[in-house]
Amino acid sequence: MSETVEKILSLLPGYNCGSCGFRQCKDFAAQITDEASLMRCPFLEREIFRKNLEQLKEIVGKEKIDEKEEEEEKEKEVIGIIDGLKADFSLGPLQEECSCREDIHPLDGSLEIKIGDILRYRPLGCPITHFAKVIDKSPGIFTVHIVGPLHRLGKNDFSFKDAGLCMILAFEGVVVKGKIPSVCQTVKFLPEHCMMQKVHSGIVVSAEGRRLRIEAIDLKVW
Ligand code: SF4
Repeated sequence: MSETVEKILSLLPGYNCGSCGFRQCKDFAAQITDEASLMRCPFLEREIFRKNLEQLKEIVGKEKIDEKEEEEEKEKEVIGIIDGLKADFSLGPLQEECSCREDIHPLDGSLEIKIGDILRYRPLGCPITHFAKVIDKSPGIFTVHIVGPLHRLGKNDFSFKDAGLCMILAFEGVVVKGKIPSVCQTVKFLPEHCMMQKVHSGIVVSAEGRRLRIEAIDLKVW
């Protein structure tokens, strides 16, 4: 018997008369879900049990609030699909962009890459081949938007450069669901565009409202 049911039972008349439709008060106590169901016991309306009825109404009302809070908390939860890990938040694209921004570093430094190029690459530690469009560059670092796997690009005749294995250095985007972290915090997050829906980890290096830049990206989460 739960603590709440025990408390309810202690406030019922204890006549075990069966008028409520249950053989004993303890059977009824376990089935009370709301104020209306309390009224199945006719004795609770008598003056002698007035205080008990007030307390019972409080207990039943509070239980409902607790359940609602629990449900609301669950709705806010961000869970990776492939790993079942709980993330602090999910990260979506900046306004009117197609995915979070990623800063990548191709291990093959000899490839000539220009802004606007489509790259095919595999992030270090990830089994999925990515297609991404270069939107900015600085020495050794290319900022991209994820635009595929192939079928998402919607055509088969586009050209791309094969960047091979790449290190993923940073993500930039907005918190869509979950808690907004502070700068320097090590976080677990789920990029909305991640094809495996796997939780990533990293360190927040800048935060402006919901907008974050996360560096030191790792697929190992602890
Ligand atoms: S009607 Fe009231 S007193 Fe009678 S068994 Fe039900 S809860 Fe107990």
